Amino acid sequence: MTSPVRTRFAPSPTGFLHIGGARTALFSWAYARHMGGTFVLRIEDTDLARSTPEAVQAILDGMAWLGLTHDEGPFYQMQRMARYKEVIRQMLDAGTAYYCYTSKEELDALRAEQEAKKLKPRYDGRWRPEPGKTLPPIPAGVQPVVRFKNPTSGTVAWDDLVKGHIEFANAELDDFIVARADGTPTYNFCVVVDDWDMKISHVIRGDDHVNNTPRQINVLKALGASVPQYAHLSMILGDDGTKLSKRHGAVSVMQYFEDGYLPDAVVNYLARLGWSHGDDEVFSRAQLIEWFDLGHITPSAAQFNTEKLNWLNAQYIKAADDETLATDIHARLEKRGVDTKGGPDLAAVVAVYKERAANLNELAEAVTPFYRAVAVAPELAEKHLTAPARAALASLASRLAALSAWERESISQAIKETMKEHGLKMPQVAIPLRVTLLGVEHTPSIDAVVEALGRDRTLARLAA
Ligand code: GLU
Repeated sequence: MTSPVRTRFAPSPTGFLHIGGARTALFSWAYARHMGGTFVLRIEDTDLARSTPEAVQAILDGMAWLGLTHDEGPFYQMQRMARYKEVIRQMLDAGTAYYCYTSKEELDALRAEQEAKKLKPRYDGRWRPEPGKTLPPIPAGVQPVVRFKNPTSGTVAWDDLVKGHIEFANAELDDFIVARADGTPTYNFCVVVDDWDMKISHVIRGDDHVNNTPRQINVLKALGASVPQYAHLSMILGDDGTKLSKRHGAVSVMQYFEDGYLPDAVVNYLARLGWSHGDDEVFSRAQLIEWFDLGHITPSAAQFNTEKLNWLNAQYIKAADDETLATDIHARLEKRGVDTKGGPDLAAVVAVYKERAANLNELAEAVTPFYRAVAVAPELAEKHLTAPARAALASLASRLAALSAWERESISQAIKETMKEHGLKMPQVAIPLRVTLLGVEHTPSIDAVVEALGRDRTLARLAA
């Protein structure tokens, strides 16, 4: 019987949820969902100097916006201190960890000596108990740290689900500190206790943690815990091929919300940053869950491509349900101080404009003139509202006023009759009409726009 799949996302709340973190969260979430497993959220907040409640909130907001719901947690490491101390006590009792009284000065001297000999600086094991070895006398007044008794021979290896077989010689790993002199446990140790207690089956995380893994595995083994499977994700490069960082603009996932991206588009895009399902580029969340596996994660770095994300976003906006879009656009309009009350039905207006919007801000911008008095810019008026154009608009106004049904076909018919009567081509009527009704030269199909604007508003704007 195989044990149930349990994955976790374990961010340190020291900043925003950025793209790399969101991708890690997504892969952990998607794998748990695909396997019918459990997705755990754990906040690694032991770095008191850098962790903030705002950052915790930003992570929760970012995950909620992306729809990456967790099944358990959030667990906060700061609330688990008693448990870490309990395990350290057990390890001291079992002899898998030991007190080390080496002072800072001694460590500095050791380091200087090793550097002089061109050796890698490392703890020399002077307080490590061994059969037959006499330890130095315990100095007075020194608070000891606790070190893990790492095996000195052999190797520690795992078959990484992304990177393949990885092996470290134990001789390369020194006895790392599991508890500082003040008793607080260290990062690598807390992760181990948590992964163990939370019964994590698959650790999916960034490959900046590859060097922590051998230490973590050794501690798990010392505790008699089972070792999870590891999948280390390769880094994400920016559009320019260098490691993705703040320099590339979008620091926070929520910036994508601000910038008018749909969360489904971002999820779809992130999924393709290092994972693939054949040549599929556009897929739903349900398909992602159905298809997601760890076997198709590429070990090479993924490159961010803003153009592709923008393209995907436009696809998602086009395909989105009008009412759902209208809810989002309504909020964006409100933020801009545009009141939609008493105006044309927003879902109907959005339906006309969503085909050509690259993002939701553009969409909000484009529909704004439907809800505001239009002031035609003098240069547009001069260019388009010529005497013949005005005459045509006047006769179009009477035709529109006489329509019994306000719908695209009859509106289109009225425009065509006006063109014929005045000997004008489509743009010679449509552009002055756009300028008059909305103050812009370009819009989607003019009959659809007029229909969405509504009879009263259209006639009033033409009259003005
Ligand atoms: N807290 C770590 C980080 O934010 C992740 C630890 C882990 O996934 O094991 O980088």
